[in-house]
Amino acid sequence: MSELNLILLGPPGSGKGTQGEALQEDLRLPYYATGDILRAAVKDGTQIGKQAKEYMDRGELVPDEVTIGVIGERVENPDASDGFILDGFPRTVPQAEALEDEMNKLGRKMTAAILIEVPQDEIIRRLGGRRTCEQEGHVFHVEFDPPNQEGVCDVDGSPLIVRDDDKPEVIEKRLEQYRTKTAPLVDYYEDRGILQKVNGDEAPDDVADHIRGLLATLRREEEMEM
Ligand code: AMP
Repeated sequence: MSELNLILLGPPGSGKGTQGEALQEDLRLPYYATGDILRAAVKDGTQIGKQAKEYMDRGELVPDEVTIGVIGERVENPDASDGFILDGFPRTVPQAEALEDEMNKLGRKMTAAILIEVPQDEIIRRLGGRRTCEQEGHVFHVEFDPPNQEGVCDVDGSPLIVRDDDKPEVIEKRLEQYRTKTAPLVDYYEDRGILQKVNGDEAPDDVADHIRGLLATLRREEEMEM
């Protein structure tokens, strides 16, 4: 396939991060997760981090102008010329429009928006039990992926914490933001003919296999058109 420009779409806790990392390994493409980029900026105390922190702590979306700038400069980077994987961007229609403008400017097109579908009760279970390593952000789950020693990261030994935005009242806010601001992107990408749905209510390896399968189909379709 000439280039592979992918968006991972889905509610918080749908497994976009897990699938994004698997795809990054398979495809050897840069992976840009706005949540990770913004959390790093907050930790480093940069200008962007300062602008983003209060929104993130409340479970609200960071203003479009902040995230659009963050992603725009990465998409333009030569590292991303064979393709890229976006996780958590776009999250609003104006962000999607800005991405489309940016791609048009570069003479490129998005390949697919992969929607990972998971029922709401499963999402609440996943987010409520998530524990994140304070140092590097390694992720565990009290029920599905417990660390060897409770409260301690297996990878670097640092304490595991509940991310501020994984607290119950904030989870509810994030889901509400998804329903009102991000869910309209399903129609947006459907209208552009690039929406691909996968069932995310399965084991991570099975979800990854589905995604590989759909990318293989897209590749075959492209070859037939050539
Ligand atoms: P995530 O790790 O993807 O769940 O993102 C964590 C938080 O970062 C979100 O709740 C938002 O506050 C912020 N964030 C991440 N991506 C975006 C985006 N594309 N637009 C606005 N806010 C975002």
